[in-house]
Amino acid sequence: MSEGTDLPNLELGRCFCNITLLQPDTDEMQYCSTRGGVYGWNFHDVLFSGYAPDGGMFMPETIPSISPATLRSWCSLSYRQIVCEVCSLFIPEQLIPKRDLEDLVSSALSKFSVPDAVKMVRLKSSLSILELFHGKTLAFKDLAMTCTTQFLEYFLRKDNRRAIILVGTSGDTGSSAISSVCDLSAVDIVVVFPRGRITQVQERQMTTHIEDNVHVFAADGSSDEIDVPLRKLFADQELVNRYGLMSLNSVNWSRILVQIAHFIYAYLQLSGVQDTDGDVLPAVEVVVPTGGAGNITAGCLVKHMGVPLDLVAMVNSNDTLHRAVQSGDFSMTDSIKQTLAPAIDIQDPYNMERVFWLLSGKDGALVKNMMEQFQDTHTLSLPETLHKKLCSVMCSGSVSDEGIMEAIKRCWEENQYLVCPHTAVGVWHHYHHPVLHGENRCCVATASPAKFLEVVQKAGLTIDLPDSVKQLETKETRYKHLERSENWEKALRERIEAIGVARQQGALFYKL
Ligand SMILES: *Cc1c(COP(=O)(O)O)cnc(C)c1O
Repeated sequence: MSEGTDLPNLELGRCFCNITLLQPDTDEMQYCSTRGGVYGWNFHDVLFSGYAPDGGMFMPETIPSISPATLRSWCSLSYRQIVCEVCSLFIPEQLIPKRDLEDLVSSALSKFSVPDAVKMVRLKSSLSILELFHGKTLAFKDLAMTCTTQFLEYFLRKDNRRAIILVGTSGDTGSSAISSVCDLSAVDIVVVFPRGRITQVQERQMTTHIEDNVHVFAADGSSDEIDVPLRKLFADQELVNRYGLMSLNSVNWSRILVQIAHFIYAYLQLSGVQDTDGDVLPAVEVVVPTGGAGNITAGCLVKHMGVPLDLVAMVNSNDTLHRAVQSGDFSMTDSIKQTLAPAIDIQDPYNMERVFWLLSGKDGALVKNMMEQFQDTHTLSLPETLHKKLCSVMCSGSVSDEGIMEAIKRCWEENQYLVCPHTAVGVWHHYHHPVLHGENRCCVATASPAKFLEVVQKAGLTIDLPDSVKQLETKETRYKHLERSENWEKALRERIEAIGVARQQGALFYKL
């Protein structure tokens, strides 16, 4: 044989050897973009990213399934143990060893006000409510946010680096992010909220944080107007790289990941699966108040993993998702309607891109076409096969402000139990579609009513405020006002640079 033919063989041999050596690595969970242009990222890099470089969203390349036997073996686990089990399906041991993962999740959930961080409450008319609002800021975002920021801090410390989190908020995301990072040492956070457009409690949950690493801005404008300078800052690659600038909204895969646990917990609590055997599992219906569709995306993943869930996505009068389910019309209307449930006043349920990808059989090219059209024109008619699939994984409903009030009042009259206006959107569905004998249903409670006093009072009801809310009134506040006439982008950029300087010239910020 000539050298010429020998060489490739040698190369082949070496490659083969490498493949064998790398086997454990290639087996590990990898992530790809919903738009087909990015593959093979690991959890670490996905955690530090927002959108994928091709404009898509990150999803696991392969979705593990949960067998009936595994589900039954999880029946006696606590919520935090379920979070650990779920996370370890998607975060390889090499990145976070199981023991460390358990410590991180424990410490994330240690500041919740009920023993197991979440609680299932059973009320009259077969209404079960999964309370997910026992974190510091009294909204469900605390659960995924505290875990996600623990993962961040873990990697930053390991790499001896820092990051600056930049968040625009319409209410709950900002306060949840602040309270999750204010005692972490490797991150600073800059939050911008729309002044006068969020509740008093929401505002004070942000402005009363006077820790050195917390920077709060009150802008004279809407959430959409705040988005503009933020998007410009994130598009500045040099700024992003220099300061390790990152977002923490539900574009971040890690938040979706942790939310998978909510649905498995609900299933285990209500299905009675422990008393069954064989492969046929009882079903459970979960009703989810939906805005950016992060939570419902986690539900779809759980269903995809083999857990028989019937999902109901409930929206207020901002009903893009409901129209998509009803008729395949995924398009935005001219403007956002302000409703009694402000955290879901969202016209672009952006996480649906992940659901479309999942339902299309991971067809990145199709999703890219669809979503680019939606971005350009704000309208999209779902392809028929995709629409059919969507209807097969979820039902939907849209509730007016009157409906929200009606559900709050009825739930109070029957149970002396108060729900927040978002939770009421789901509870409305329950009252209008009673469960039949033998069916199991739970409504997800996304926030505490104590956060939405204005609505509670409007319903003619009162509430005993938790101490944490009462104390907000007397606490010192610190924030900076961004006037309408100011250049917001410039003001925020200056603050980011000032943080960089304060953290010393030599500080290493996270670079992807
Ligand atoms: C964020 C939020 C929602 C919507 O959650 P998504 O995952 O974006 O659909 C619902 N209710 C409350 C109280 C929230 O803060």
